[in-house]
Amino acid sequence: MWRLLRLICDNAAPMDVHRQTCQNCGSRALHNILVREPGHRSVVFVGCTTCEKLVARYGLETYYHHGKGLESYLRSIQGSVESGRRVLSEFEATQQEAVDGYERVVKALRAQGKEP
Ligand SMILES: [Zn+2]
Repeated sequence: MWRLLRLICDNAAPMDVHRQTCQNCGSRALHNILVREPGHRSVVFVGCTTCEKLVARYGLETYYHHGKGLESYLRSIQGSVESGRRVLSEFEATQQEAVDGYERVVKALRAQGKEP
């Protein structure tokens, strides 16, 4: 997905990057609550830690949690395992794409004069 995003961004308008804020109180003190239920797409609820209101809900097609390792990645792909070598290769690619993507997003935010 990050490869596709990079391809689109490199060949289109500049990347549009936003730092999410609470629409109720303007706070940037937010927390993410990940919900995984068998048979359902993973969902992230973003809540405000200042006023405790819901800020956003995201449905996830894929999920990568940096630093949580291969076991977490395997849970995120929920049984679509074809071979151990392929999964390990995909995990390593996903890990690198996530780190690279995050660095690009932080750089884009700073270029726009926004703190990440
Ligand atoms: Zn708030």
